[in-house]
Amino acid sequence: MTADVHTMVGAYVLDAVTDLERAAVDRHLRDCEACRTEVDELRETTARLADGAWSVPPPRLRDNVLSAITTTRQTAPISPAAPSPVPAPGRSRLRLVSAAAAVVLAASGAATAVYVIQDQRVRTEQANVAAARADEALTRAVLGSPDLVLREDDVTGGGRVTVASSELQNAGVIMLAAASTPAGDKVYQLWTITPAGATSQGALPPGQTAAMKLVRGLPQSTGVGVTVEPPGGSPQPTSPLSAEVPLI
Ligand SMILES: [Zn+2]
Repeated sequence: MTADVHTMVGAYVLDAVTDLERAAVDRHLRDCEACRTEVDELRETTARLADGAWSVPPPRLRDNVLSAITTTRQTAPISPAAPSPVPAPGRSRLRLVSAAAAVVLAASGAATAVYVIQDQRVRTEQANVAAARADEALTRAVLGSPDLVLREDDVTGGGRVTVASSELQNAGVIMLAAASTPAGDKVYQLWTITPAGATSQGALPPGQTAAMKLVRGLPQSTGVGVTVEPPGGSPQPTSPLSAEVPLI
C-alpha cells in the first residue's frame, strides 16, 4: 500500500480520495516527512489559485528571483553571457515535479488507483492545479536557464519592473515591484509589445503593487510595458507607459 500512498498525495490535497484512501494517507503522513512537505507545497499552490491570472510568487521562489537579480547585478552589465544565477535543481524540485505528475495522473485517470471524482469542482481544480504546477516548473526553468537575460526599468512613482527571459525556454517572467499603488483607485496593468501593438498580460487587483507573470513566447515580443488603468484593466493602454523594458 505504501508505494500507492505516495502517488495519492495530489488527489488527497484536492479531497479527491475516498475515506479509506484519506485514512491511509493520513497514517502515511505521520511517518513520511517528504510527503508532508509535498502536501504543504501543494496546498500553497492551490491557495494561490484563488488569485486568478495573477499570483504573488511563493516566498521561496521570490527569494530565488531576488537573489538571481542581486547576483546578476554584481556581474553587470546584464548580458546573455551572464552565468545562471539559480542553483541546480535539488531534491525539492524533483519532488515538486513528481507531485505535479501525480495530479496530472489523477486528472487523466491513468493512475493505477481509481479516483472517484465526486463533482465538477474537483475536476476543475485538478486542471487548475496541473496548469499552475506547469507554470511554476516553466518559471523555474526560465530562471535557471543558461541563456537567462534580465532587463529592468524604473516604475514612475517608484519601484522596478524586471523581465527575465530565455530564448531556450521560449518564455519569460515579468516581475513588478512598485513602491506604491497608483493614485485614484487605479491599478497596474502589464503589456507585451510587438510591432503589431500591445497585448494585455493582465491587470493587478486594486491595491496590489507586486506580481509575477509568466509569459510563454515572450522572446517574440519587442518589449514589456506597464501602465496605470481603471480597475479590471483596459483592452488597450489608456495612459503613458509607467515603465518600459525593451527586449531587443
Ligand atoms: Zn511518503
